[in-house]
Amino acid sequence: MNVILFGPPGAGKGTQAKILEQKYGLKQLSTGDMLRAEMAAATPLGLKVKGIVDSGSLVPDDIMIAIIAERISQPDCKSGFILDGFPRTEAQAQELDVMLTQKGKKLDAVILLEVDEKILLDRIHARIAQSGDAKRGDDDEEVLKTRLEAFRKQTAPIFPFYERKGQLEKVNGMDSVEAVSAEIDNILSAKKAA
Ligand code: ADP
Repeated sequence: MNVILFGPPGAGKGTQAKILEQKYGLKQLSTGDMLRAEMAAATPLGLKVKGIVDSGSLVPDDIMIAIIAERISQPDCKSGFILDGFPRTEAQAQELDVMLTQKGKKLDAVILLEVDEKILLDRIHARIAQSGDAKRGDDDEEVLKTRLEAFRKQTAPIFPFYERKGQLEKVNGMDSVEAVSAEIDNILSAKKAA
């Protein structure tokens, strides 16, 4: 099963993706985690994207598309993957379609975690307060505003694309982790049975 998890920063995509990894044996592909690993290891790619990521803007599409195209071809994605953080622009969504078709794969579910912006800000503030020294370079107030804006302007316009295909499933991301997870379970079970 191949799943996309959409949601604004702080919506809980990473948490739900980890639960899905455990429950369904899917592989979580978090583009944010991949970029942070490159940055931490100071690879050429990491050095190239650091300024962009730390500012809260989006890394160029060609870079992200190449990363994902390579990643979903790996053996650990054979029984399925959860895209967490990709696609984030219309160009990425279109290229994803092309690469899936080329690889003979398909999307089984596209899930959007909907969250109130006020609650998002509270959650991210809590994450910043807890993380101390381990704080992510992009977890601060101003950068968060840029990230939310990138979500609204560049990522939200993709949703109608999946909606038209009848693939977009909306989940209330303000519920508890368990309740959100149960809802996602219902969606995936229904897809499996179909
Ligand atoms: P968030 O907490 O906002 O969901 P992520 O951990 O998914 O953030 O991503 C962190 C940063 O990495 C983004 O703000 C962006 O700079 C970069 N990034 C991650 N995925 C993508 C992508 N698909 N396209 C462009 N930039 C990306």
